[in-house]
Amino acid sequence: MTQVAEGVYFIQGQDEFIPDSHAYVVGRPGSQDLSLIDPGLMGKGKYKIQSIQDMGIDVKEITRIIMTHTHLDHLGCCAEIREQIPWAELWVHDSEAGFLEAGDERTVYGMEMFRSMCMMQYNLKPGTFTFYVDRRLQGDEHLNIGGMSWEVLHIPGHSPGSIGLYNRFEKLLIPGDVVYADYAIGRFDLHGANGPELKNSLVQLAELEVNILLPGHNRIVKDLPPGYIAETARQWAPYLA
Ligand SMILES: [Zn+2]
Ligand SMILES: [Zn+2]
Repeated sequence: MTQVAEGVYFIQGQDEFIPDSHAYVVGRPGSQDLSLIDPGLMGKGKYKIQSIQDMGIDVKEITRIIMTHTHLDHLGCCAEIREQIPWAELWVHDSEAGFLEAGDERTVYGMEMFRSMCMMQYNLKPGTFTFYVDRRLQGDEHLNIGGMSWEVLHIPGHSPGSIGLYNRFEKLLIPGDVVYADYAIGRFDLHGANGPELKNSLVQLAELEVNILLPGHNRIVKDLPPGYIAETARQWAPYLA
């Protein structure tokens, strides 16, 4: 785990034959109010918790898990993580919270073929990814977490309840799987995905001043060129119509 900015820590995902999402810890240590963003893939809970402890951060300070969205590669080790920090609340956007609570795993797996493959590979039972959601995020909210101000942006398209977390002071964006480094964007062929919505979300993000991009996969970017997201939206627009 490395520190990206004051109160923002990055834990690299450990991809297997399925990707493992990056995780982020957000909030100022000592605030007793840290958030873990996107736990990651099945089996990665121990490694993520260990990485946090190795940075000298007390996991007792983590009071919540916030999901950028509920795909398997982000949610898979949520239960493992909560064995270590059982008090942690789970915060998910309203558009995916209902599915989690009802045990509707179509968004988690994204496609039927992938579901059967993963269930076999990881010996998962139907209903494994059923969770009570403590807070349903709506978008256009300002959260004060860990002594920092974060804006929650609803940016659907990759999945119905994708959110971005934006820190205006540090010009730092955690966009989940909506936009990556190197002008890449998230898939828009999975269950609940929507190309035109993804296009609108990119246009929405393009209005933000972003210096540091902390996506769910691939490399993080610390000196994002001005207009980067707008250019990404422009390049992808023909495919997202
Ligand atoms: Zn992902
Ligand atoms: Zn995803």
